[in-house]
Amino acid sequence: MVFAVAVLLALGSIALTLIVRGKDVPETPAVSPTAHLEQRKVQIYENLRDLQFEYRLGKLSDEDYQKTKVDLQRELAKVLAEIDTLQPAQAKAAVAAAESKPKPDGKTCPHCGAKFPLALKFCGACGKAMA
Ligand SMILES: [Zn+2]
Repeated sequence: MVFAVAVLLALGSIALTLIVRGKDVPETPAVSPTAHLEQRKVQIYENLRDLQFEYRLGKLSDEDYQKTKVDLQRELAKVLAEIDTLQPAQAKAAVAAAESKPKPDGKTCPHCGAKFPLALKFCGACGKAMA
């Protein structure tokens, strides 16, 4: 009996793993190339804050404080520079996407590009839905 329960539990966990995996694989989101850098930046800011806090409490010597602070600031500068080098490409892509896809206002057909003085539900030129 105990064996049967154990088998059921094992099968259950295998099934669950398969279900979870099956769900996860197709939905892998496109991670922003700067996501981990942003995370690192936040972490460094937190470390700097903690460092200052501990220094004010007198837990650190001037020397330790200055040394750690400079190390963190140097790392922060590196992370910020990396974000800067990655972001222009992203910003350009976003601008390009925005330009190629004008906001649907019902006046310009997204299919054939015909323009109308009034907002329409269906294009007067190609007959497709304007939204
Ligand atoms: Zn049209």
